[in-house]
Amino acid sequence: MRKGIRAERHIGEECGLFGIFSPECRDLAPLVYYGLYALQHRGQESAGIVVDRDGFFRAHRDAGLVNDVFGRAELDALGPGNIAVGHVRYATTGADIRNNVQPLLINHYKGRMALAHNGNLTNSAELRNALEKQGSLFHSSTDSEVIAYQIVQERLRTDSIEAAAASAMDKIEGAYSLVIASPAKLIAVRDPFGFRPLCMGHLADGSVVFSSESCALDAIGAVFERDLLPGEVVTVSENGISCDRRHCGKAPKRFCVFEYIYFARPDSVIDGASVCLARQQAGAFLAEEHPVPADVVIGVPDSGLDAAIGYAKASGIPYAIGFTKNKYIGRTFIESSQQDRESDVRIKLNPIRSVIEGKRVVLIDDSIVRGTTCRPTIRMLREAGAAEIHMRVSAPPFIAPCYYGTDVDDPEVLIATHHRTEEIAEIIGVDSLGYLSLEHAALLTGTDTGFCTSCFSGKYPTEVPAGSLKDRFEQRIHET
Ligand code: AMP
Repeated sequence: MRKGIRAERHIGEECGLFGIFSPECRDLAPLVYYGLYALQHRGQESAGIVVDRDGFFRAHRDAGLVNDVFGRAELDALGPGNIAVGHVRYATTGADIRNNVQPLLINHYKGRMALAHNGNLTNSAELRNALEKQGSLFHSSTDSEVIAYQIVQERLRTDSIEAAAASAMDKIEGAYSLVIASPAKLIAVRDPFGFRPLCMGHLADGSVVFSSESCALDAIGAVFERDLLPGEVVTVSENGISCDRRHCGKAPKRFCVFEYIYFARPDSVIDGASVCLARQQAGAFLAEEHPVPADVVIGVPDSGLDAAIGYAKASGIPYAIGFTKNKYIGRTFIESSQQDRESDVRIKLNPIRSVIEGKRVVLIDDSIVRGTTCRPTIRMLREAGAAEIHMRVSAPPFIAPCYYGTDVDDPEVLIATHHRTEEIAEIIGVDSLGYLSLEHAALLTGTDTGFCTSCFSGKYPTEVPAGSLKDRFEQRIHET
């Protein structure tokens, strides 16, 4: 455990990345805009695009959804270029949104760089301390700026920006997928554990595209080529594509299993496995682990739906659409005050009485974190006349903080750290409750290809920051 590093509140970074290199100078901002639109589920707090024309960078970044931040005028103002990168960002409440918008723009003595990051470093506090002592002035509170300055430092000792990025990987620890625009190159990086996704594809005109998820390649008509290997640095320039694999295989692959369960879009394929099929598999495992006599299986829209289909197929109990979801709810609704939460849920979701009334219902949701959102949903099902409600959750119980970019932090707020499953069933008001087992979570894509399941197990593949929430978690386990 590291000593002497200040304990910081963990800031979750669920983000979406997009980058494009075009052989011809042309309008790239609209393509990035469509890419980010398809990645909006990965972050709704801010959006940004940087276009690079021969080393001249134009940026537009602001708080809000992609559609709020970018209109025709903003996209036009970015002008044509050869390289563009984009970012959508989610951060936990309290983080300064405007100062932390990405892509970051960095001026350094060898030129400029725009960097977009998804994930969280585990050693950012100590790196930041060291960089500050050497004179770096930080403008944001993000790990991403630590990565950027680390690369800039390495650039002093290396002869290319991609070599600097690869050297920086010796120093930075934790979760990072990156897309970086330098004046003449587009660089993509995936950390050696491969915690977060990053894939590449191409357009018919030879443009090379990087994206957090394949669904954004589909959105702009790009052909998916492959996922970056954990530890890989891929560089695109007018000389073609080069790959630096010096960090590949240095760590066991530990892809975040919660990407399959919740974050990613079901139409994405990550590391060779369909997100939709992984969710259906989770449902099938749940049917095997927690069978129950029932009349209908329904899912909580949207991320519970595929698992519900999987449960229904495996159990033979008919699947039905149990809720109508209002498609026109904006972010403002989700963020309204505590008193309004109940009506928020009712406006977002409404049970279909004809499907529910008098039925023994299996209700599938992707996860229970604090245990607050599912309560009004369950109450609505009771009011719609459900005879019994058996909740099945397509993730194991959250018991520990995540340090790699998932917004699951303080164990104090996690319902499963304080209560046994039967108690949680009583608290949320269901007749029975069953979670996916950790063993099955590791098998969602077939064989165990190496997942990070630390938020479900408390076992971390890396060191985690000293004085962190994990210490409190361990102390709590020790006390109980
Ligand atoms: P709750 O149990 O009230 O904290 O909410 C659980 C619900 O929040 C789940 O059904 C998910 O749809 C959603 N959820 C789970 N994890 C996250 C996360 N890291 N960020 C945002 N939403 C999440």
